[in-house]
Amino acid sequence: MSGLHDEFEAGDTIPPDAPGAEAWGKVLADARANEAEIPSAYCIERLIREACAEGATHVHLEALADRVRIRFRISGRMRDKLELPRAVRHLLIARIKVMSHLDVAERRLPQNGKLRFGDFDPRYAVELRVQTIPCEHGESVCLTLPDPPERAPALAELGLSAENLARVRRLLERGRGLVLFAGPPRSGRATAMAAAVRETAAAGRVVLTAEDPVRAHLPGAAQCQVVQPHGLTLARLLDAFALQDGDVAVAEGLDEPEAAVRALRLARAGMLVLGGLRAPDAADAVLRVAERAGDPFLAADGLAGVVALRQARRLCGCRTQEEARPEERALLARAGAPESARVFRPAGCDLCAWTGYRGVVGIHEVLALDGGLRDLLVRGPTPDEWRAEVKRKLGRTLYEDAIEKACAGATSLVEAAS
Ligand SMILES: [Zn+2]
Repeated sequence: MSGLHDEFEAGDTIPPDAPGAEAWGKVLADARANEAEIPSAYCIERLIREACAEGATHVHLEALADRVRIRFRISGRMRDKLELPRAVRHLLIARIKVMSHLDVAERRLPQNGKLRFGDFDPRYAVELRVQTIPCEHGESVCLTLPDPPERAPALAELGLSAENLARVRRLLERGRGLVLFAGPPRSGRATAMAAAVRETAAAGRVVLTAEDPVRAHLPGAAQCQVVQPHGLTLARLLDAFALQDGDVAVAEGLDEPEAAVRALRLARAGMLVLGGLRAPDAADAVLRVAERAGDPFLAADGLAGVVALRQARRLCGCRTQEEARPEERALLARAGAPESARVFRPAGCDLCAWTGYRGVVGIHEVLALDGGLRDLLVRGPTPDEWRAEVKRKLGRTLYEDAIEKACAGATSLVEAAS
């Protein structure tokens, strides 16, 4: 192992007062104590194990001017993990590239790959996505951990209010039309779609999914992988679904116009289509799809409804309950909640690493398109006109749902209103 000698040497030549030198010294000492042959590989493996154990979704290795910063994203928030000297950056990044079969010499272009961690330790058999990107101070890397391998949750486990759950079920039971799952990244969109697939597959329907990449295994569904380099685009897979005698088609990303048109056509031909879309709320999601499709008639005819989602951090059990302050009363009033309500605030304990939060809460709004909304969409409404009409048809807006969940103590008012 030529890496052995070089790496211990590189570690030893870092001046003791350089930023991160002490932390790297500890990594080296641990690596020696554990008889690890390559300190950088030891460091990366330990980071991945800790990321798995702490429930992180991403590990970021960021090149800063004088050091490498390593942070985890946990429950949507960044948490500092480790800072190492700038001099070891190449060691770490080259090692990640070797582990994920990327081009070690290429530092000026972004690269994507996969790192199969089970090859190193079967107890942590996970496959991480690896993205490198050239930044001002050198290459940075983002490792994306897979969703937990457990089964997809049931719809009833998503934290939908009783009324919203009934609305979603009505949309799925219609058995035709495009149902959009709209939300920003990390809104729980993929999980909600998996739950919907689980429920429709259990109803004895033929379910075909187009995913990029295929993530959790969905029992009862035929899962297909989009392979861009081979020309197997989402649009092409959806075309194939039209001939496959399917009842339900699932398309994760309807952000491309071609895919949006195909999904709407499938919906119009009588399939139930579940489509994922980046959009902040239900009103916006409909306008985006209509715009991508370039044809308001097709959109109005094909769309059945929208499930819009976002997530707020869940208050840890150590929360406190206090009288609402004046500014909090204003937030409550905006959602029509009683102003006299007592509010919950984050505290902090060992369990939540003194952040006051643990896990996430789903926030939802569910829109079913009716004749009135279809007519309005075809007429080409102004955004204000459209928003006002959608708000009238929604049982409860995202904001109202969030405030309701804050009043029940699931999240804080600050989280709900952000
Ligand atoms: Zn706590």
